[in-house]
Amino acid sequence: MKSSALRKASLHMLLAAFCTLLSAYPLKAQVETGFEQSPLPYPYNALEEVIDARTMEIHYTKHAAAYCKNLKDAMAAEAADGKMTLENLLNKISKYSAKMRNNAGGHYNHEIFWKMMRSPSDNNQPSGKLAQAIESRFGSFEKCKVAFSEAAKGRFGSGWAWIYVDEKKNLQIGSTPNQDNPLMDISEIKGFPILGLDVWEHAYYLKYQNKRADYIENWWKTVNWDYISQRFEAALK
Ligand code: MN
Repeated sequence: MKSSALRKASLHMLLAAFCTLLSAYPLKAQVETGFEQSPLPYPYNALEEVIDARTMEIHYTKHAAAYCKNLKDAMAAEAADGKMTLENLLNKISKYSAKMRNNAGGHYNHEIFWKMMRSPSDNNQPSGKLAQAIESRFGSFEKCKVAFSEAAKGRFGSGWAWIYVDEKKNLQIGSTPNQDNPLMDISEIKGFPILGLDVWEHAYYLKYQNKRADYIENWWKTVNWDYISQRFEAALK
C-alpha cells in the first residue's frame, strides 16, 4: 500500500512537471531567438517600396552582424552561461555590462525585426484573435496605429517602438531607448514584445533622410501580421 501511494505521488509530480514543461514549450518552439544571426527571410530588395535594398543590406550585414558578434564577445568575456536562452539573458541583463546590454538587445531586436516584415501590401492589417484584442484594447486598429506611431515618433534619438504583452496579458504600447527592449529587467516598460519598429536613423536614413514620420507611416504596409499573431499567441501561454 505504502509503495503504491508513493508511486501515485511520484506519478502526480511527474505529470505536474510535464505540464509545466508543456506550457512553456510553445513559446520556445515558436518564437525563441538564438544567439546566431539567422538568414534574412527574404532578399534585400523584397521590401523595396518601404525600405530600399541598400539600407536592408547595410542594416543586416553591418549593423545587425556587429551586434551579434559583439554579443558573443561579451558573453565570452563575462563568462555568461551558454545554456541560458537569449530571453533569459535579457531578463537579467542588469547583472552584466553595458556592452552586453547594448548587443544582446541589438541582436535580439534585429532578429525579430526581420521576421516582423514581409513584402509590402496595401490594406495590410491584423486578423483573428490579435485583431480582436487590438480592437478591444485600443478601440480600433487605426487608434492602435496612431498610438504606436506617436511612440515611434516621440522616441528622442535612437530606439524602438513596441507593442508588447504585459504580465497581466494586456496589450501595451511604448518605446525604449538605444537597443533596450521590454524583456530587459532594467526596462521602464516590461513584457513580451510582439511588434517592434527600429527608429534608429540607420534603419531609414538613405530613403527618408530626416523624415522619420514618413518611414513610420509607410512601414505599416510591410508588417508581417502572421508572425505578430504567432508572437501574440505565444505571449498568452
Ligand atoms: Mn537597426
